[in-house]
Amino acid sequence: MAEATIFGKIVTGEIPVEKLAETDRVIAFPDIAPQAPVHILVIPKTAEYANVTELAAGDPGLLAEMVEVAQRLANEHADGHYRLVFNTGANAGQTVFHVHAHVLAGGLEEGSL
Ligand code: 5GP
Repeated sequence: MAEATIFGKIVTGEIPVEKLAETDRVIAFPDIAPQAPVHILVIPKTAEYANVTELAAGDPGLLAEMVEVAQRLANEHADGHYRLVFNTGANAGQTVFHVHAHVLAGGLEEGSL
C-alpha cells in the first residue's frame, strides 16, 4: 500500500487540524500557507483519488459534495463568492496527491487567476 500523504494523516487525526466543516465523506480545514484572506482546503476522506480528474471519473457525487461544502464555507467565511482551484499535476503546482479543492475568498484581486 502506498504511504499516506499528509492529507491522509489529517483524515486519520495523526496530524491535527482545525476542522471547519465535516460530512461523512469530506473534511475542510485552513491551508497552512494561506494565499488569500480565506483559504480553505476541502478534501474527501478517501485517499483513493489523486486528483480531480480521477475523482470526477470515479465518484462524481463526491466531487459535487466537495463543491457543496466549498459553497457553504464561502457563505460562512466570506460573502458567498469564491474561487475553487484544483491543481492537477506537479507541473501545475500540485504537491499533495490526495485530491483537494482550494477555496479562495474574501477580497480576491480582480482579473487574477
Ligand atoms: P497543492 O499545491 O497540492 O495544490 O496544495 C497543497 C496545499 O496543502 C498547499 O497550499 C499547502 O500550503 C497545504 N498544506 C501542506 N501541508 C499542510 C499541512 O500540514 N496542513 C495544512 N493545513 N495545509 C497543508
